[in-house]
Amino acid sequence: MQRIGVLTSGGDAPGMNAAIRAVVRKALYHGLEVLGIKRGFSGFIEADIEPLNAWSVADIVHRGGTMLRTARCEKFKTPEGRRIAKENVDRFGIQGLVVIGGGGSFHGAAIFNREFGLPVMCLPGTIDNDISGTDYSIGFDTAVNTVVEAINKIRDTATSHERTFVVEVMGRDTGFIALTAGLAGGAESIIIPERPFSLEEICARLERNYRKGTSHSIIVVAEGAASGVEIGREIKKRTGFDTKVTILGHLQRGGSPTAFDRVLASMLGAKAVEWLMQGESNKMAGYVAGQVVSVDLERVLNRRKNINLALYDLAGILSI
Ligand code: ATP
Repeated sequence: MQRIGVLTSGGDAPGMNAAIRAVVRKALYHGLEVLGIKRGFSGFIEADIEPLNAWSVADIVHRGGTMLRTARCEKFKTPEGRRIAKENVDRFGIQGLVVIGGGGSFHGAAIFNREFGLPVMCLPGTIDNDISGTDYSIGFDTAVNTVVEAINKIRDTATSHERTFVVEVMGRDTGFIALTAGLAGGAESIIIPERPFSLEEICARLERNYRKGTSHSIIVVAEGAASGVEIGREIKKRTGFDTKVTILGHLQRGGSPTAFDRVLASMLGAKAVEWLMQGESNKMAGYVAGQVVSVDLERVLNRRKNINLALYDLAGILSI
């Protein structure tokens, strides 16, 4: 193998740059050439491809987003789109591909491999942490820390005004960000899609704690479980408490990656290159119990990642 390509696809996540850097520098270390493919699979189809060297990836390890840009590319879902991409694979002499993204991007990589035999390696890059086969995806830790920082600030104002705050966070149809940030931020209640919730219970808890002298309350809601605005409205209606809603939105996607995400991205990116050189394909580099592991893409794509419900119960116990 002499030349590999790397792209970022789907939603951006902090730490993608650190992953690109690791792929490029590890490949160069072994004498491979690396091509950067811009804007996900769009650049693959439009031949928006350029060589990357050690300096191309200098000064990016600490930056959020992705220097290669990212995109959602509908055309790659069509056989015609992928046929054009294959022409570019031949034209640029790409012999292996590293795809950094979420489940959708992995689907695209797997289909392309099946159709044209190009070896592919995937790295989990999404703040949602909803990819099975890895404890953490690149960007999750940063997003959680961003949410915790926001909760800390909201707590200050909540205390001063004796208010109830509902904080809606991202996570698509999962509650990983809400659960982890809610526990770390000392939320009174956490609402996630993986567990049914009762507004009656949440309000009863709020009233109980208010009688005990709690001056503020924070409720974290995963976007996939309920609308923060509706939860806030209901709480206000049922308890009469001054209730404010904050939707954190896209600020959870940005920011300088945490040290954890940088290290994770570096380890996974380097391993993906190693495995490509060893002739492996159709794998995701994951991180399980402190070890980098190789997981079959098929397994990743066919399993739903389970949330740690023991953590949910613990958050409930600790917030009483
Ligand atoms: P995130 O979790 O951040 O949303 P993702 O990788 O799951 O990331 P998607 O929008 O689902 O994001 O997919 C990204 C891109 O992957 C798509 O725009 C498309 O180019 C490609 N892709 C997704 N599904 C397929 C598919 N079934 N066939 C071919 N390509 C696909």
